[in-house]
Amino acid sequence: MNYSSFIPPQRTLMGPGPSDVSARVLSALARPTIGHLDPKFVTMMDEVKALLQYAFQTKNPYTIALSAPGSAGMEACFVNLVTPQDTVVVCRNGVFGARMIENVERIGAKLVVVDSPWGRAVEPQQLEDALKANPDASVVAFVHAETSTGARSDAKTLCEIAAKHDCLTIVDAVTSLGGSELKVDEWGIDAIYSGSQKCLSCVPGISPISFSEKAVEKLKGRTDKIQSWFLDQSLVMGYWSGDGKRAYHHTAPVNSLYALHESLVMLHEEGIENSWQRHHNMHNKLAEGLAALDIEFIVPENERLAQLNTIKIPAGLDDAKVRSFLLNEFNLEIGAGLGQFAGEAWRIGLMGFAARQENVTLCLAALEQAIA
Ligand code: PLP
Repeated sequence: MNYSSFIPPQRTLMGPGPSDVSARVLSALARPTIGHLDPKFVTMMDEVKALLQYAFQTKNPYTIALSAPGSAGMEACFVNLVTPQDTVVVCRNGVFGARMIENVERIGAKLVVVDSPWGRAVEPQQLEDALKANPDASVVAFVHAETSTGARSDAKTLCEIAAKHDCLTIVDAVTSLGGSELKVDEWGIDAIYSGSQKCLSCVPGISPISFSEKAVEKLKGRTDKIQSWFLDQSLVMGYWSGDGKRAYHHTAPVNSLYALHESLVMLHEEGIENSWQRHHNMHNKLAEGLAALDIEFIVPENERLAQLNTIKIPAGLDDAKVRSFLLNEFNLEIGAGLGQFAGEAWRIGLMGFAARQENVTLCLAALEQAIA
């Protein structure tokens, strides 16, 4: 058997993630690998922390990039901040809320589920009712941007309700960070996690997370052992601490962190508000073009994510055939429907570097041909 280098095709990624990675970020990835405790690398890690604080709009000192994908960010929030004695209210309106439930069940905490229909935002009144009915609740968890449906929940209001009932909040911002308005400190979010591969347009495999002082206090106050050694943030803290004394915990993905640093520098150069606005503008252009093709959205307009557009597959079309046509003829990836929407919807991502006019134009022209 002869093996040779793997040369991937040049695709345009307009699915649910990963999104297009810019040449600038890819070239950062290819810089020389240095030791993960090298003073130069440690200085860069400090910049990654500061840039993540900017992206999350927080002053939380515990803001780091976890060496693992978004799913590990989710799990890190749950295993560190939920004990078997807690009662956790999880709002579920898609696949990723269901994964939060899995986490709570595995920890053995008491679970209260607030279900909202797929394709809709979490209904704040339902959360309020659940918290009134469960005065022992101590944690509220929800997904800000549900990638499986394209719905954006009102994180600010949900956090206000949670705070009124004295609950810690865990928020999934895997798809929202950089693409939707998100203000961790102003909205009172206690624990938040994201992913590198969506609106930050970095390579997959890193999960930015941030814990408020209240969340860190809860973690430090625990006397039991966190069930996951790798995700135990009381150990990871020593590695990411800003006091100059870095203790070895694991070997960081050095080059991936160069890439994350570069993508965050790009976000900072653009300005976070401008990035939110660009996603919004590109969504409007895409929506206009889709309307001209008589293609309908699944999510009501005021609950739609700009960066993840879930549309109904027009009657009579073969889902897989259309997506293969786009991939083979245009090198264009769009996403299939997930869960309840499998076979019924397509998901068009406009995330990070992919949220550009040329991508919108390509996608609309390719779709027009595909459905003709
Ligand atoms: N949460 C949401 C909302 C997601 O969209 C995803 C991935 O698509 C995840 C969590 C899991 O992230 P990862 O695939 O990086 O583990």
